[in-house]
Amino acid sequence: MSFVLHGIGVSRGVAIGHAHLTSHAALEVAHHILPRNKISNEISRLDAAFTTVRKEFETLHASVIGGPASAEFGAFLDLHRMILDDPTLSSAAKTYISQNLCNAEWAVTQQTDVLLAQFEEIEDAYLRERKADVIQVVERVLKALLGHPGYIPPPIKRTGDSILVAYDLSPADVLQYKQDRFTAFITDLGGSTSHTAIVARSLNIPSIVALHNARQLIRDNDVLIVDGDQGVVIVNPGKRVFAKYRLRQNQLEIEEQKLKRIRTTVAKTLDGVAVELHANIELPQDIEQVKDNGATGIGLFRSEFLFLNRDNLPSEDEQFEAYCTVAKKMCGLPVTIRTFDLGADKNIDSDKRVAANPALGLRAIRLSLAEPKMFHTQLRAILRASFHGNVRILVPMLSSVSEISQTLRSIERAKESLQDEKTPFDTDIQIGGMIEVPAAALSLDIFMEKLDFLSIGTNDLIQYTLAIDRTDDAVAHLYDPLHPAVLRLVAHIIRSANHAEIPVEVCGEMAGDPSFTRLLLGFGLREFSMFPTQLLTVKRQVLRSNLPDIIVTAEKILKSDSPENIRILLTKLNS
Ligand code: PEP
Ligand code: MG
Repeated sequence: MSFVLHGIGVSRGVAIGHAHLTSHAALEVAHHILPRNKISNEISRLDAAFTTVRKEFETLHASVIGGPASAEFGAFLDLHRMILDDPTLSSAAKTYISQNLCNAEWAVTQQTDVLLAQFEEIEDAYLRERKADVIQVVERVLKALLGHPGYIPPPIKRTGDSILVAYDLSPADVLQYKQDRFTAFITDLGGSTSHTAIVARSLNIPSIVALHNARQLIRDNDVLIVDGDQGVVIVNPGKRVFAKYRLRQNQLEIEEQKLKRIRTTVAKTLDGVAVELHANIELPQDIEQVKDNGATGIGLFRSEFLFLNRDNLPSEDEQFEAYCTVAKKMCGLPVTIRTFDLGADKNIDSDKRVAANPALGLRAIRLSLAEPKMFHTQLRAILRASFHGNVRILVPMLSSVSEISQTLRSIERAKESLQDEKTPFDTDIQIGGMIEVPAAALSLDIFMEKLDFLSIGTNDLIQYTLAIDRTDDAVAHLYDPLHPAVLRLVAHIIRSANHAEIPVEVCGEMAGDPSFTRLLLGFGLREFSMFPTQLLTVKRQVLRSNLPDIIVTAEKILKSDSPENIRILLTKLNS
């Protein structure tokens, strides 16, 4: 059956391929469709697995009774038994098998997601944290299912054109899939500037989030068309639709090849104003794409990605190697290393207490200052790498003068420790701050006095100005870069920095969106940093722009407070 699903396109392009369904990342299991005559057997299999786990709990309970931690362990076991017997997990999983003709493992993980979503909505932070217990119980059930083998259908070959269909993916999950060569990603949850979306964009494959029911409705190996431009997934398309999209894919490929011709062209407007086009990266291996697209520097190295998908922290030497590799490969071009922006949706310790509002919590520089040892290690690694190239330090999420002073003191301490050991580094290393909290944008003079350069993180600036969680698709429609408040803040930062002759860059997603290139040029921006694959499209827009024409309309947009008028003027600006 052919049908269409609508979501939010977060990475452009068209992919055609076969669905590869994945379950909760921590509970990766295969999905099989079973013949009808195997269904009752599958349900018995599930019953047997639940019985096994119940017995395991009884044995555990008996073994600790009367022991030193009896009360504490008893409460913990009671909670796990309650989760095991929760109807969402036990009985609903059986219904799921009968209705969807699938294997027990798959049914259990689907119901786990339902249960986890219920936990997510609990107001009480302690209870919400019990999600980890749900996962532990489900892991036991899955292990028990292994001991009760069932019908294994003939394997579906994973083709080279697999499209990942997931409920939700964390930035760390997407990073892991970097090696897996999927041709597209689609998820039920997610927002357009979440870090998951950003990493997907950096993979240069079409991606759609916020589809809500994709994983329920799509079956493994269904043929999918993912249209990242329109945010549409077509499941099992008919012949005519299929042919139309094949044609579109070919056109996009031709366009991409044409764009490659301007790779080495200097980015200048028609009236001769030079513009720096830098790249955002997550890992040293991204440098290949940076070179392929002719970036003139790294405007944002999201160093925190070195800390994800591992049980320990990267050592100073390991970090030094990563930063040094990038610095050397960029051959003297600027490499801006952002100190780790961990917290919020990029966590290294999933067991730690999750704050009620993680985006407003211990994130980025706040976390760095709270973990001085970890910060010191990173600063030493960056400083050591600065000896091997043109390295700059960028500090995320600064919001007050005391944070700047503390950060500068931390950098001084790292410098002194290297000087004591006679380890070389760039003593004049430039230190910049991300302007991504409205408080920073509105007290810019303090920042410009103490820092060498500024970088506008529009993703967070929009999130914090409009009070919209960038990872939450329920409010994604309110996330608006053209909101007058956002435009006024962005223009104010650029103009104030230009006036004070402090270099200023935009490194948020607005910089990589060609529909904003002229507007930002009109505000006075001359440095853009974006995911590498977007660079040539933005360069083409720069090459076609004449500043005297742009400035007048950009000013009109800034003065307008009607969203409709702003959009009309922007279309005019881009035509
Ligand atoms: C931003 O907030 O715009 C930014 C570039 O940083 P990140 O997306 O990593 O938060
Ligand atoms: Mg940010």
